[in-house]
Amino acid sequence: MTDRKRMHSIPDLEAKGRKRLVLIVEDDFVNREILKINMQQEYEIICAETGCEAREKIHAHSDTLSLILLDLNLPDLNGLDLLRELKQDMDLSKIPVIVLTADTESEVESLTSGASDFIPKPYPRQEIIMARARRCIELSENRDLIRWTERDHLTGLFNRDYFDRYAEQYDHYHRNDPTDALVLDISHFRMMNERFGKAYCDEVLRRIGAELFTFVKENGGIACRWEADTFQIYCPHREDYPALAARVAAAASGPDEGRVHIRIGVNPNVDKSGDMERRFDRAKSAADMIRSSLTESVAYYNDDLRQKELDAGQLLDDFRGALAEEQFLVYYQPKYNIQGPKPVLCGAEALVRWKHPERGMVSPGTFIPLFEHNGLIRELDNYVWRKAALQIRRWKDQLGCSVPVSVNVSRIDMLDPDLTETLCGLIKDNRLDFSDLHLEITESAYTEDSKQIKDIVAGLRNQGFKIEMDDFGSGYSSLNMIITLPIDLLKLDMGFIRSAFSESGDTGMLKIMMDIAHHLSVPMIAEGVETKEQMLTLKDLGCDIVQGYYFSKPVPAEEFEEFMRQEEK
Ligand code: C2E
Ligand code: CA
Ligand code: CA
Repeated sequence: MTDRKRMHSIPDLEAKGRKRLVLIVEDDFVNREILKINMQQEYEIICAETGCEAREKIHAHSDTLSLILLDLNLPDLNGLDLLRELKQDMDLSKIPVIVLTADTESEVESLTSGASDFIPKPYPRQEIIMARARRCIELSENRDLIRWTERDHLTGLFNRDYFDRYAEQYDHYHRNDPTDALVLDISHFRMMNERFGKAYCDEVLRRIGAELFTFVKENGGIACRWEADTFQIYCPHREDYPALAARVAAAASGPDEGRVHIRIGVNPNVDKSGDMERRFDRAKSAADMIRSSLTESVAYYNDDLRQKELDAGQLLDDFRGALAEEQFLVYYQPKYNIQGPKPVLCGAEALVRWKHPERGMVSPGTFIPLFEHNGLIRELDNYVWRKAALQIRRWKDQLGCSVPVSVNVSRIDMLDPDLTETLCGLIKDNRLDFSDLHLEITESAYTEDSKQIKDIVAGLRNQGFKIEMDDFGSGYSSLNMIITLPIDLLKLDMGFIRSAFSESGDTGMLKIMMDIAHHLSVPMIAEGVETKEQMLTLKDLGCDIVQGYYFSKPVPAEEFEEFMRQEEK
């Protein structure tokens, strides 16, 4: 039963003038009847005489039960055990329980086991019983209302706003206890969504929620669903996280054993002087280390990551100065058309390099993701595009010719409302043709907000820019989607080349990708081609254009001119 169902039941009941439902669990006939008579004016009553019957009825009416009156001495089981069982269950634990007992010793134990109240035997006056029942229901309904706002409605765990608040509160009461921050998510969740559908994946998330609920119930701490398939847990320090990952994966997979793979990033023994967000960012960077691994399930934040974080911070600080001092260089890597008898130079990709005064050449693999993360990439890309446009102009002027240059357009650039204007401005200011500049847009950009992105790309294409879909095959776009996309060239993700030509690889996948390109009547570019054998295989498969170390690494503009001169010979 979710909070939603329960919450709906309260106003519904009032609107319909229906009575709230109360379960009396009592084996003694006389006692049962006394309670029933006492309460039936105000409540709808159902009864159970044994623990098993009670369990059945609780499950059958879990959505609508407002209160359980529970005798501790039942013929088949101890009422306290049943109580504990209910309190371990995320859904059933919300139903308030009043314990009925003649034994004053059990009162404390009942309360610590999760009972809301107790009524001693022999029973007190009717008004007392009624007052206790009423108060209990009222408190629980108020609590339900609060739950409704502080919970994620799919999983019943806290939502992110309240999680932060409760995590601070948790700290307050556990100031000196070693505490771990965890980020947990599902590997390849997007792909699962595509393959198995939303309803199935919602069920998986719900199961994870229930398992995490049990985990924190047993071990202390708090848990929330942060967003989509990401969960956060803040709990007492422990060592056995692989076991937790296995346990959550098993629960999430349910009958489809092994289907769901869980990753956990752990920031162990958090530094409580830093802010909460930071503690979980660190757990997240740990989780990111095993992003694509299907064998590892737990990663820890460690000194290496700490150093990386510091380095990243340094690069961010250095960015503005570096841009002003022109420390960023644009290199060019040739693209060759290989379909004729002899490879023909047909273009170049502009790739940025950072000549850092202290660190030497920094690879874009290091700084691009960083700048994408905080939006600086827009400034950098604008700079690279301008340099590339100037370079094309210079080649035209000095050599009397040029080749189309493709520039990378990051996902973040697509959100810039001035994007089209900026790019068109470069063409105009440098007196270029639109076909001189190709735009490489990574496949994953399309999958995020496809309608908006599609419209922007279509607009650029209508202007006359040629659009290349970069890293094709690395995202999750379906064939249906690709057919509708405004693109002129597909640029195969390098991963396909790597795996096709690895020791145990075969070219089956390559062939499929080529077939897709042919089906769409769009030329295919393969990048990362390092050997003659790879080039010839691709040629046989019908690949049109090749880029890679086999022909050349990315080189400075002056060196690139050599390739153009050679063509002329
Ligand atoms: P990408 O767009 O997929 O670029 C191809 C990468 O493969 C380049 O790495 C290139 O140097 C490398 N490469 C080319 N041929 C071979 C080969 O035969 N073997 C191997 N192993 N690698 C090869 P690079 O220059 O380090 O760039 C990495 C990524 O950084 C690029 O991937 C692109 O996503 C991004 N990037 C580079 N420059 C820019 C830029 O100006 N703007 C934006 N937004 N992203 C950029
Ligand atoms: Ca690219
Ligand atoms: Ca690529």
